Amino acid sequence: MANFRIKNIIPRWQIERLTQMLDRATRVVVTCHLSPDGDAIGSSLAMCALLRRMGKTADVVLPDQLPHALQFIAHEEVIPTVYTINRLRATGLVERADIVLCLDYNALKRIDKLAEIIEPCRAPLVLIDHHEDPDTSLFRLWLSYPEMSSTCELVYRLIVQAGWHALLDRFIGRALYLGIMTDTGNFTHNNSNNPELYEIVADLLRYDIDKSELYERAMNTFTVNSLRLQGYALADKLEIFPDHGAALLTLSRDELERYDYHKGDTEGLVNRPLTIPGVSWVVFMREDANYIKVSMRSKEGFSVSEICTKYFNGGGHELAAGGDFYGSLEEAVAVFRRILADVGTVKEASPKESDDSDNDTIFDKLNIQ
Ligand code: 5GP
Ligand code: MN
Repeated sequence: MANFRIKNIIPRWQIERLTQMLDRATRVVVTCHLSPDGDAIGSSLAMCALLRRMGKTADVVLPDQLPHALQFIAHEEVIPTVYTINRLRATGLVERADIVLCLDYNALKRIDKLAEIIEPCRAPLVLIDHHEDPDTSLFRLWLSYPEMSSTCELVYRLIVQAGWHALLDRFIGRALYLGIMTDTGNFTHNNSNNPELYEIVADLLRYDIDKSELYERAMNTFTVNSLRLQGYALADKLEIFPDHGAALLTLSRDELERYDYHKGDTEGLVNRPLTIPGVSWVVFMREDANYIKVSMRSKEGFSVSEICTKYFNGGGHELAAGGDFYGSLEEAVAVFRRILADVGTVKEASPKESDDSDNDTIFDKLNIQ
């Protein structure tokens, strides 16, 4: 039975446009962002499985491989095609597609080299996403809802509003639950206070989903090396800037190699310093082969997505964002220090008392144009 306890937030015309486009399509390709997280892969797998239940030929094409912790979900029914591994197959699928769905990203930059085949493809691109400021020029239709906890929440709402609820099953339900759980940090952030989210979760749990199993596998499994790497980072590399309410973590290639770094090994690390009273902004910089990956988290009242957009060629959400820096780790740290210098000395961020103008946070002082 459909879930009628949630509001229809997607306007009727968008549902109609999308269903018309899908009605005309036989082959559909579903894509998501580079370094796919639980929401990216969960929403893509759910959408792909749903389209197959409608009788479409649907495939998931990923820009790069899934982190180890999420591979279990992708091997259960829909096997994604990874562009960096199987370029030929990915290209064939995209060339033959009648429509390409773009899930959990807002600009082609987010799919890295996969953009080489997505940008010139003949199929219309449809965005289904919850990141701010989508590059709408690229898309024939865009369902952009930054107020959603996750793209998976949005896909669930789409399923209900489009009248596809009868097609929901355990596989789709698990994939959607995975994305909602991971993007909200197991129901702690990203608008996870919305009671409607729990109406959605209640419905998903009816499909025989073991939420503890999903939590353990996707969010609470680390290798010895990754735990030691995170321990090293917190013990030896964490810098606190008490006057600024800020924390910085950096890991160089040498340090990563010392712990036999694999993709996903530093997952969650950036959140840890935010647990320290007085720290309201965390910056994590990880040296990659030819650039620095920047990750930021903040407490309410300050948009790290604006910082990442302005200084690090990136974006994301208000309280969780990221970007890239092309230069050395030292130069990236110098940019961070420059931002701190712009901010000056501030008191501890306390969003609950934000109406007290004397109690300016780091964020009030940071004058972002
Ligand atoms: P994470 O720090 O977990 O890698 O990413 C946090 C959030 O920032 C995610 O929602 C992700 O989509 C966004 N994000 C991470 N890296 C980038 C980036 O390079 N560019 C943009 N635009 N967003 C990013
Ligand atoms: Mn997401």
